[in-house]
Amino acid sequence: MYEKFKNHLENELNDIKQSGLYKEERIITSPQGAEITLNTGQTVLNFCANNYLGLSNNDLLKEAAKQTLDSHGYGMSSVRFICGTTDIHKKLEASVSEFFGTEDTILYAACFDANGGLFGPLFTDEDAIISDSLNHASIIDGVLLCKAKRYRYNNADMKDLEDKLKESRAQRFRVIVTDGVFSMDGNVAPLDEIYKLAAEYNAMVVVDESHSAGVVGETGRGVTELFNLRGEIEVITGTLGKAFGGAVGGFTTGKKEIISLLRQRSRPYLFSNSLPPMVAAAGIKMFEIMSSSRELQDKLHKNTEYFLTKMLDAGFDIKPTKSAICAVMLYDAPLSQKFAARLLELGIYVIGFFFPVVPKDQARIRVQLSAGHSREHLDRAIEAFIKAGRELGVI
Ligand SMILES: *Cc1c(COP(=O)(O)O)cnc(C)c1O
Repeated sequence: MYEKFKNHLENELNDIKQSGLYKEERIITSPQGAEITLNTGQTVLNFCANNYLGLSNNDLLKEAAKQTLDSHGYGMSSVRFICGTTDIHKKLEASVSEFFGTEDTILYAACFDANGGLFGPLFTDEDAIISDSLNHASIIDGVLLCKAKRYRYNNADMKDLEDKLKESRAQRFRVIVTDGVFSMDGNVAPLDEIYKLAAEYNAMVVVDESHSAGVVGETGRGVTELFNLRGEIEVITGTLGKAFGGAVGGFTTGKKEIISLLRQRSRPYLFSNSLPPMVAAAGIKMFEIMSSSRELQDKLHKNTEYFLTKMLDAGFDIKPTKSAICAVMLYDAPLSQKFAARLLELGIYVIGFFFPVVPKDQARIRVQLSAGHSREHLDRAIEAFIKAGRELGVI
């Protein structure tokens, strides 16, 4: 039997390769950071990690993890409700709640699980989920695992959202779900308007802060800070795998009754292993650092502004952004790949994205800024962009 299936798989793989969408992995032999070493021996400046605050290799986080490795061991060998909960997990949940100004928090192994396990336990076929068209795959999958009626509105289009709210009037409970920052453009969800519409039409709101937490808002508390909605949104989900240290882990935080029910019914929580205590402890340390100083957020905001200004001055076409994501528009798919390859030769690691990851004829290079970048790193990247841009006739 396998022979036939194998042929089928080989054809599929060939199709992916033919369409130029085959994803290769680059192998890094150094810690994650602004400067990384690849297994080819090449050292490059990294502009494609979600390491927004430069914490992936932070000494204080590593120290917290090492100490906890000694005090609490390596792994839990259990899900949370059997024997996988330590004092450290409880403390991290409290830290998340305090950071976002929410009532209670539940941890997951990843935000993919937080989103995957969110909707099924809360909503039935009597209810409606109204989802932004550019929401993350984990939200889409989470919604598919739930029997609620599904509605989709065009990205950040409030007129369309209002239409969907009108269409879904007959449903018992309604919830609007959106990413805080959309990862391909770097735009921020208009949470102030979403919140107003939700109030007007008696709906609830879920925001996934994965790309916005640590990044957006003066003190990095995400889009609820940016729009002065701290504590007002029913549910926030997020990851410890991006700005918050970059290891692994997800959370859902919000109204306490919602969190309580998730602890009873959310399948990735009930049937998947508990976070390693050392990872949870580093998370606690991370929230301590973020709460005691704004240094990293300030540096990230300054870096982003500097990079954007210089790139616009150089004549690049950049999507309006309010995050640490900067989409340098090239429109043409092969050009985006050529451009990224040339930048790598020049020692700058970025990714060129094209259809179907972004809409047709909207190919781009996505640059992700970090507090870990120095001014010199930024200047080297800008210089390389200008060089490649001239060579390839972009500017
Ligand atoms: C990265 C991301 C996730 C997944 O987070 P993990 O913790 O890596 O599973 C979920 N939602 C959004 C919006 C993301 O950007």
